[in-house]
Amino acid sequence: MNLIIGIVLALFLIVFGSESLADGIMGLLLALISYAAAIVLLYVTILNYYRVGYATSAIPERTFTVYRCPSCGYQLTKDFMVGDYVGKTGESCPKDGTPMVIEKIYTISQPER
Ligand SMILES: [Zn+2]
Repeated sequence: MNLIIGIVLALFLIVFGSESLADGIMGLLLALISYAAAIVLLYVTILNYYRVGYATSAIPERTFTVYRCPSCGYQLTKDFMVGDYVGKTGESCPKDGTPMVIEKIYTISQPER
């Protein structure tokens, strides 16, 4: 959406610049400023567009689910699975068979190796 707005604004500036070209030195100056603004705007918009895409896809993340047994306190960390939520009861405690409860869910960013 930002990319489209940026391109439309840049095209508007280019058209505006071309029309001012006939009005002598001031017009030429205005046209140059408009072209420069259009180029900067296009550049920043496209850069932003790619940076957002990069940030969401390139940093590896891993999400964990932490289970805790309400009776003995045994804690178990597993990979997050779709449908996990805090307070949900999961599998039985390996020590006493009490259904364990999801205590927390967290995500870490993994540094590049
Ligand atoms: Zn237990």
